[in-house]
Amino acid sequence: MEFDYVIVGAGSAGCVLANRLSVDPTNRVLLLEAGPEDRNFWIHVPLGFGKNVNNPSVNWCYQSEPEPNVRGQRFLLPRGRVLGGSSSINGMVYVRGQPEDFDHWAQLGNGGWSCEDLLPYFKKSENNTRGADHFHGIGGPLSVSDLTERAGICEYMIRAGEEIGIPRNDDLNGQIQEGIGYHQATIRNGRRCSTAKAFLEPVRSRQNLSVETEALATRILFNGKRATGVLYVQGGVTRQVRTTREVIVSGGAFNSPQLLELSGVGQGKRLQALGIPVVHSLSGVGEDLQDHQIVRMRWRITKNITWNEEVHGWRALRSALKFLFAGKGVLTMPTLPVGAFICTRQELATPDIQFQIFPGTYSSLEARVLDKQPGVTVGVVLLRPESRGTVHLKTPEPTSPPAILHNLLQTERDRETIVRGMKLCRRLMDANAMDPIRGVELYPGCNATSDKDLLEAALDVTQSNWHPTSTCRMGTDPMAVVDPTLKVHGLERLRIADASVMPTAVSGNTNATCIMIGEKASDIVLQQARGRE
Ligand SMILES: Cc1cc2nc3c(=O)[nH]c(=O)nc-3n(C[C@H](O)[C@H](O)[C@H](O)COP(=O)(O)OP(=O)(O)OC[C@H]3O[C@@H](n4cnc5c(N)ncnc54)[C@H](O)[C@@H]3O)c2cc1C
Repeated sequence: MEFDYVIVGAGSAGCVLANRLSVDPTNRVLLLEAGPEDRNFWIHVPLGFGKNVNNPSVNWCYQSEPEPNVRGQRFLLPRGRVLGGSSSINGMVYVRGQPEDFDHWAQLGNGGWSCEDLLPYFKKSENNTRGADHFHGIGGPLSVSDLTERAGICEYMIRAGEEIGIPRNDDLNGQIQEGIGYHQATIRNGRRCSTAKAFLEPVRSRQNLSVETEALATRILFNGKRATGVLYVQGGVTRQVRTTREVIVSGGAFNSPQLLELSGVGQGKRLQALGIPVVHSLSGVGEDLQDHQIVRMRWRITKNITWNEEVHGWRALRSALKFLFAGKGVLTMPTLPVGAFICTRQELATPDIQFQIFPGTYSSLEARVLDKQPGVTVGVVLLRPESRGTVHLKTPEPTSPPAILHNLLQTERDRETIVRGMKLCRRLMDANAMDPIRGVELYPGCNATSDKDLLEAALDVTQSNWHPTSTCRMGTDPMAVVDPTLKVHGLERLRIADASVMPTAVSGNTNATCIMIGEKASDIVLQQARGRE
C-alpha cells in the first residue's frame, strides 16, 4: 500500500487534515484510526456525554499516575478512541481561548501563529448560526450554534455574575474573553457535531481518501532520518503502508508522544532502557504536559430549575421524546451552557480562571449519575497553570498505556490561584440574585472557611479538566519537538498536528484550537507541496 499522505488519528485535528488534503483528487490520503466508526448512540446525544466518559469501547480511558501533590490520587483521563477522537466524546463547548495566547505563541518564535495569522483558520472551519462577523465564519463544515434551551438557573447565575462585577459577555470568543455568558456549542440540529460528522462524513466517498478504523499505528517507519511509512495492526494482522510525501501524526497529547517513542524518537537514554533502537534523539518528546486543572464546587438549589430533575421520573421520558421527535430539550444541550472568564488579580491583563457552570450535580462523578434534587456545579478552572507533567512509555508494547503524570497543583502560584478562584465562586453564589434559589453548599461545605481549608478541599478533589497539550510542543528551542511548520526537528517527512504541538495551553477549552491546528497544518502541507512542484 502506498499513499501520498498517511495521517495517524481521526480526531479533532486528524479529520480536518483528511478532508483538506484530499480536496485535490491527485493526493492519495490514508487516515488511520485506532477506534471504531462513531456508531455508539450516546456519541450523538449531546447530554449523553456522561455515558462515554469512561466507556472503553470509544475511549482510551487512561489513568494518571499517582499525583504527588494531590494526595497521590489517580484520575480517569478520557480520550476519544473512535472516529472524531475526543471531539466525539467531549462536552461540545466551543471556546477558542484568548487572542493573547496566540500572540504569545508567535512571540516565542513561532512565526505564522499569532492571533491575526490564526483567526482566518478558526473562521474557515466554522458555520456559526449567528452569521458571519469579524470573529466568526459561515459556510465551514463545523456547526457552532447557540443553545436551543436555557436551564432556568442560567439567568440567575449570569445576573449574580453581573452583580459581583463580572460583565455579561454575549460572545466569549469575540474581542474580549472576560465576562459571563452563554457558551456556543459544536451541535447541529440537536446532535453532536464532531469532526467526524463535520469534516469526514461529507467526503467519505472521495476515491482518493481511505479511512481505516480499528487500525492501531504501532510504529513510524524510517529510512535513516526520513519517515517512509507506518506499521499498524488491524484485526490482529500487522500491515505496512508506505508514503511518498509525509506521515502526519494526530494522535493527541498522550498518544502522539507515545507513538514517537515507540518509533525510536525521544529521549535516547529512556528509549535504550526500554530496548527501543534510537532513530533520533529528541529531549522534548513527552515533556511539558500542560492541562487545565479543575475543582468542582457544588450547591443544592431550592427550585426545580436545573437538569437533575429533567433526567429522572416522568420528566426523563419527556426529555427523551423531545430529543427523538423534535431535536430539542435537555438532551440536546452541551454540558456547560454558561461560562465565565475572570481575573483573580487586579494586575492581570486577561482572565486566569474559568467558571464552568453545569446546571446539575452528580451523585457519583465517576458513574456520572445525576442527583434527583436540584443542584448546580461550578468548575473552577486554572486557565494558565504553571504545573508541568510528562507522558512516557512504561513498556515498549504499543497496546500498553503510557505513564501520564500531570503534577497537578505543583506550584505555589497555582495553589494560590485556585483558592482565589474558589473564593470568587463563593462570592458569585452569595450574590443577592441567588437568594431565591440558593440551597446549602454541598462542596466544600460551610466548614471550609479559611484559605487553608479551601486549599485542603482543592487538594482533595482537583482533577485534570481533560485538556492536555504541549507534549510535542512547537518551538525553536532545544526542548521543542516540532518547528513552526509542524515538522519534527531533525527528521524529514514527519509532522505532528494536534493538541500536543501547542507551545503553551490556550486559556480555554481546547477543541476549537485543535481544529484550527488541523486547518493550519493542512494549509502548510499543501503550500509546501505546491512549492515543490
Ligand atoms: C471528556 C472530554 C470532554 C471535553 N470537553 C471539551 C469541551 O467541551 N470543549 C472543548 O473545546 N474541548 C473539550 N475537550 C478537549 C478536546 O476535545 C480535545 O482537546 C481535542 O479533541 C483533542 O484533539 P486532538 O486532535 O489533539 O486529539 P483527539 O481528538 O483525541 O484525536 C486523536 C485520535 O487519534 C487516535 N489515535 C491515537 N493514537 C493512535 C494510534 N497509535 N493509531 C491510530 N489512531 C490513534 C485516537 O483514537 C483519536 O481518535 C474535552 C475532552 C474530553 C476527553
